[in-house]
Amino acid sequence: DEDLALLEAWEDDSLGVLTRKPAPVVAVVGRPNVGKSTLVNRVIGRREAVVEDVPGVTRDRVSYSAEWLGRPFTMVDTGGWESDARGIDKTVADQAELAVQRADAVLLVLDATVGVTASDEAIVKMLRGAGRPVILVANKCDSPALELQATELWSLGMGEPYPVSALHGKGAGDLLDALFEVLPQFSEVAEPEVVGGPRRVALVGRPNVGKSSLLNKLAGSERVVVNELAGTTRDPVDEMIELGGRPWRFVDTAGIRRRVHMQKGADYYASLRTQSALERTEVAVVLLDVSEPLAEQDVRILQMAIDSGRALVLAFNKWDLLDEERRYYLDREIEKDLAHVAWAPRVNISAKTGWHKDKLVPALEKSLDSWDTRIPTGRLNSFLGELVAAHPHPLRGGKQPRILFGTQASSRPPKFVLFTTGFLDPGYRRFITRRLRETFGFEGTPIEVAMRVRE
Ligand code: GDP
Ligand code: GDP
Repeated sequence: DEDLALLEAWEDDSLGVLTRKPAPVVAVVGRPNVGKSTLVNRVIGRREAVVEDVPGVTRDRVSYSAEWLGRPFTMVDTGGWESDARGIDKTVADQAELAVQRADAVLLVLDATVGVTASDEAIVKMLRGAGRPVILVANKCDSPALELQATELWSLGMGEPYPVSALHGKGAGDLLDALFEVLPQFSEVAEPEVVGGPRRVALVGRPNVGKSSLLNKLAGSERVVVNELAGTTRDPVDEMIELGGRPWRFVDTAGIRRRVHMQKGADYYASLRTQSALERTEVAVVLLDVSEPLAEQDVRILQMAIDSGRALVLAFNKWDLLDEERRYYLDREIEKDLAHVAWAPRVNISAKTGWHKDKLVPALEKSLDSWDTRIPTGRLNSFLGELVAAHPHPLRGGKQPRILFGTQASSRPPKFVLFTTGFLDPGYRRFITRRLRETFGFEGTPIEVAMRVRE
């Protein structure tokens, strides 16, 4: 039935373009410190901690894939954005509003130990206008007395408050049951995933790395097949550019060409834009400016690209500005700060002069090939057999978990599932991941190794 659910998610438009209806999206909103992040971690934590070995860290992530009783959904944590200037209530409500517009339902988190505040009321006011189903989460109900106190939250007029202790994992089941009563099976607001047609590329990077210069260089020298392909539901506009003899669809080029620099929440909007471009693309080109030290924002965008599960190419731009001294530091940065993406192909370019722009397409193609790769089950298991024979899992308390069987569950990106007799050490799983790369390549694609324990 899991397979059936997957099948239902696909739609064929009879032109050979497949689209996958996306999982429903849930925005988690509320004042700072009410426990939004704790709740999100609680809901996704169990699955990620037990089953998946996702490379990288979770900091600064915006969307998370979650699952409840076999039904997938996406959780958007709005907890990372603190208000900066002027009117706390206004900023918090503004930020929540953006997330809400992109969601099918909302979890409004309140702190039951504090009760209703003016900020909570501001958010409720906004939610009434947004027309999305809202579930009230009375968080920090660590005791029965607090649960009783939480009934006060009925006064918001938003229906039943669900008492939860995100910290101790209490009440989450009932909450999620209630959530799924109001969630559609597929998202009615998120963009469907498109498969087939020209391959989709996103140019991402912090402001001023040279995205629009590169886009102009690529479009200017080559024939632009179709200009301005309107996006479906929201504003993004794509452009079709012929490179290396075939068309490529550059995603959300409107966002690159129209440089909007809002003062308040600029980072937040930039981050949403990047996230939405990544969602719609197959391969991401992360641009870095070699004339300046790697910035925190570069690292954050790179992490978003890795976490998106898309194929990846690193473009080191402004190579014409590189002097010997900077070159020395750049090499150190690549060794140290970019070691975790050593698997991504790197191209050195100058968007300004056009130098090496022809190196981009081969890198895109290589990454996409890896992203599409399927390793036949027989081949995978002979690899695993040899590996385990030569390097068995270390003994743990007299026991030795064994790998019974492995299979590639999906591609784009390649995802492997190992069936085992016990938990494998994280170190051992990293070892397997490393050997998978050494053996099969996977240049330019993230890979995942998950585990299923068979008792
Ligand atoms: P956010 O800013 O809304 O994302 O809030 P956080 O998830 O960062 O939580 C803020 C603080 O509240 C942290 O110190 C959490 O440990 C704490 N917290 C979160 N959930 C609970 C809970 O259910 N009970 C208690 N006692 N504390 C909690
Ligand atoms: P975006 O904000 O990422 O779209 O960046 P832009 O394409 O607008 O570039 C920002 C600035 O960097 C502009 O002044 C560009 O002329 C300059 N720039 C972009 N690429 C290069 C390059 O390869 N070499 C040099 N020297 N300057 C560049």
